[in-house]
Amino acid sequence: MKPFFDLVGQYHAYKDEIDQAILSVLESGHFIMGEPVKLFETELEQYCGAKHAISCANGTDALQIALMAIGVGPGDEVITVPFSFIATINPILMVGAKPVLVDIDSNTFCIDVNKIKKAITKKTKAIIPVHLYGQPANMDEINKIAAQHNIVVIEDSCQAIGAEYNGKKTGSLGNIGCFSLYATKNIMCGEGGIITTDDENYAAAIRRFRQHGMSAPYVYEELGYNYRLTDLQAAIAVEQLKKADKFSDSRQKNAKILNSGLDNIKGITLPTIFEDRSHVFHQYTIRITKDFKLTREEFVKRVQARGVGAGVYYPRALHTYPHIAKLGYKLGAFPASERAADEVVSLPVHPAVTNKDLVTIIAVIHEVASGA
Ligand SMILES: *Cc1c(COP(=O)(O)O)cnc(C)c1O
Repeated sequence: MKPFFDLVGQYHAYKDEIDQAILSVLESGHFIMGEPVKLFETELEQYCGAKHAISCANGTDALQIALMAIGVGPGDEVITVPFSFIATINPILMVGAKPVLVDIDSNTFCIDVNKIKKAITKKTKAIIPVHLYGQPANMDEINKIAAQHNIVVIEDSCQAIGAEYNGKKTGSLGNIGCFSLYATKNIMCGEGGIITTDDENYAAAIRRFRQHGMSAPYVYEELGYNYRLTDLQAAIAVEQLKKADKFSDSRQKNAKILNSGLDNIKGITLPTIFEDRSHVFHQYTIRITKDFKLTREEFVKRVQARGVGAGVYYPRALHTYPHIAKLGYKLGAFPASERAADEVVSLPVHPAVTNKDLVTIIAVIHEVASGA
């Protein structure tokens, strides 16, 4: 069976197109801020339905640039969740602000909208909802609360390119959207990032920060840095973006087969898909609850031993890591996030997983669930 992280599958499946795209960049002799970068940005604007898409080096940078562009710095607070990849929180710390954590909702794995208001103070500048595993957070409620308190909404859409909420794509659901093109993401170019926004001022600030604070050649308006995506990466990303909907379709199709094959196993909770949004299944994530025969660790071990690439994303809630715990967060502070970290298991769902693989995965899990 294909490994869970199919780092090479997305290349080998489309080798000819990608080789051609890379070769044409090499032959052009032009590597930075050229046609492929412009083309990728324009196509992504159309894809997401955002006025501006600005590429950068990776998704972590995308989040940091977004925070810098809206002026977040020391003394400010940014609301986000403790159940995500670490790169959701680190950019907040990198700009000198304080991450104020709000627990997740157990059904969506995304921020619990009922707990946001309590976390807002005079210092709150932004909120970063994470569309975890590929399904958008409750954006209507988040936008409503943010508007009432004059807070900027930055979507962490690193796992959710192409997902929709009430018919609109992620990246166009808040004030700013951040995406990753890391090798395992739904579309990828090795490393890469994108920031989307409809706001002209944010877009100008993002473009400046990405390139040395520059507004015209050698005109440095303010502090900036080098966060550029290269033309080589953009050329790959352009080819990947053409396939984005196809990739989502096959992830959704695989998830549907897993959902029906794994239904009604005692102690296993399947992912919920909400009617007002779509799920692009960056991860297909089940829960191994305390009603299951085995511990989560034992389940993972037995499933992996039978060749199924199960993984745990993520094994620890982020507030338990030392550099975040030292802000005053204690174990027990975010029960839904801590429970998720104890229970989640992600199963192979990526486009290279075949129907035969799915049959095997389902059979293996039934076997393990029966105590074999
Ligand atoms: C991947 C990811 C990031 C960071 O993206 P990189 O391109 O790896 O820097 C941030 N947040 C989430 C939720 C992610 O999954």
